[in-house]
Amino acid sequence: MISVMEVYQLLPKTNCKRCGLPTCMAFAVALISREKTIEDCTPLLEEAKYEKKLAGLRELLAPILSADATETGMVIHPEKCYGCGNCVVACPVNVASDPKGTAIGRGPVSGKAILMVEDGVVKCVNVDECRRFGPEKVLCNACIATCPSKAIEFI
Ligand code: SF4
Ligand code: SF4
Ligand code: SF4
Repeated sequence: MISVMEVYQLLPKTNCKRCGLPTCMAFAVALISREKTIEDCTPLLEEAKYEKKLAGLRELLAPILSADATETGMVIHPEKCYGCGNCVVACPVNVASDPKGTAIGRGPVSGKAILMVEDGVVKCVNVDECRRFGPEKVLCNACIATCPSKAIEFI
């Protein structure tokens, strides 16, 4: 889990407001929640003295910025997954929307399941159905809690 303080330490800490937020701390929070991007902090990009901080920030935020991170913040580490299907069975949305596919730990057959195992590795589809998504989001963690190899995380 990336902390706000870690991100803050890599910002200019001048509170110049050019990002549209009142403080660098507020910007750190916005970066983690992906409401802002690194590019919104123009001093960090434009001033050579922040070069090291910029590189550090890009490295720190790489999991969030990666194409693997879904809108819910879910990241799947395929190298850790051995396709047991625990998460597929445990996901309440899978159970509700796709009881048939979910029962065998593979899913989906209805096209509405979130997690499915394909070629021995889990993958996330229909991410907008996840209970962590949208305005009514719930901090569900059934898929993470049941994974024996920590192949799923939320960032
Ligand atoms: S633009 Fe960068 S330096 Fe200025 S307040 Fe925002 S985060 Fe801080
Ligand atoms: S967080 Fe909950 S709803 Fe979302 S994929 Fe995991 S188990 Fe399913
Ligand atoms: S992510 Fe974890 S629980 Fe899901 S199939 Fe892979 S190893 Fe099993």
